[in-house]
Amino acid sequence: MIFYNSLSREKELFKPIDKKLITLYTCGPTVYDSPHIGNYRTFLFEDLLKRTLIASGFKVKHAMNITDIDDKTIKASTNEKIDLKEFTKKYINIFFDELKILRILPADYYPRATKYISEMIAIIENLISKNHAYISSSGDVYFSIESFQKYGTLTNLKLDKLIQSKRVLSDEYSSDIIQDFALWKAYKHSDGNVYWQSPWGKGRPGWHIECSAMAMNLLGNSIDIHCGGVDNKFPHHENEIAQSECFSQSKFVNYWLHSNFLLVDGEKMSKSKGNFYTLKDIIKKGMSVEEFRYMIFSAHYRSKINFSLKRINNAKKAISRITNLKHKLIPIAKDKIQTFPNAKKRFHEALKDDLDSPKAFSIFFEWLKDINLMIDNGTISETEAAKSINFINFFDYIFQVIPKNKEIPEKIIHYAKLRETARMKKDWAEADKLRNKIDYYGWIVEDSKEGFRLKKKL
Ligand code: AMP
Ligand code: ZN
Repeated sequence: MIFYNSLSREKELFKPIDKKLITLYTCGPTVYDSPHIGNYRTFLFEDLLKRTLIASGFKVKHAMNITDIDDKTIKASTNEKIDLKEFTKKYINIFFDELKILRILPADYYPRATKYISEMIAIIENLISKNHAYISSSGDVYFSIESFQKYGTLTNLKLDKLIQSKRVLSDEYSSDIIQDFALWKAYKHSDGNVYWQSPWGKGRPGWHIECSAMAMNLLGNSIDIHCGGVDNKFPHHENEIAQSECFSQSKFVNYWLHSNFLLVDGEKMSKSKGNFYTLKDIIKKGMSVEEFRYMIFSAHYRSKINFSLKRINNAKKAISRITNLKHKLIPIAKDKIQTFPNAKKRFHEALKDDLDSPKAFSIFFEWLKDINLMIDNGTISETEAAKSINFINFFDYIFQVIPKNKEIPEKIIHYAKLRETARMKKDWAEADKLRNKIDYYGWIVEDSKEGFRLKKKL
């Protein structure tokens, strides 16, 4: 496989640490509100990556953190006068529900930052002992970026040009103000009852150390792939590299993959700008989860997408072309076979080339057009039809765009095929019995000259 590695700014051949088991860390949501669909664009890109790795024969050990303590969660829970744990629980639950609704493969671990405080303290102590970190007069602990020669490699920053006049306490800041960043923040009155004891007095961790602690504890000091949206590159991922590599003396991550933004009217969708839609919002406006997935994957993960509800129709049409084809192929395909049409190889190659989903889509839809023609001309063989169904299933394993209620259960297909055989033998009594059985399970069978069609009863 080939990935565009943000670290080298080049496409690179993927060489995993272990040939079979890939370690994957993806930055998860900050649970101070419901995620917006911009966040989900990033999580869907990660789902595409994971499904492509699995379809290419790898096993994946995946950790996605939950940021349940940072500047934003404290501020929002204080504003609402709700205990932090109770406050974040609500949004953690929403997130897990929506992951299921979005048909995103679950991670193996969903570590919560608040459960890894002692691991974070251990890393910070180690960094202080090696002079990579220091305690300020106010009791905060800062990472000294001067102490790490490679600081800035991921985002291509030149350290000699940096302004190092001040330290930065807040979790988020731009690359114009590169300074020593906070690993541990001394307790302030505004933190309410959110604090932990540490060798430096009571306080709480900075955001960046959280991911380093969770990633290294769950996946080891060197990880194959680390993902996030492009806005995570600086300062978050840059800081993760600095802390982790100074702590472990090993390369933290071999491949950094970042997805681009989902925009609204040309601007990044974000909570702070207020220009966001949640998953509930778009469903209310008539866009299905499958249509949303289709829209996201019709662009490459490194391109920006301008979100528009006007794109529902394109997605709807494309998805119904796929389901219609599958339904037409079912009565023609008599055998179950393991093979695929030739186009599947090119399709898979496109995905293995830095997850080129637009190219994979175009290969698939070109092929779909040809198969439809063959069906119309009556030139498709039973074997070709069976291979074609396999290809559609493979496509749908990767992209998950066929609505589940459009999927015909195997059992129903089996009864319909038995009924077809009974009809051939003019065994009308048996054929009727099977029709009733199909009806009992909520499906309607219709006959045409191309064969039977199965439809779900309304
Ligand atoms: P947060 O909950 O802010 O920590 O973000 C969770 C993930 O969503 C991170 O990987 C962000 O980079 C990503 N993200 C945030 N906004 C957008 C957006 N508009 N488009 C794509 N990804 C985003
Ligand atoms: Zn992170």
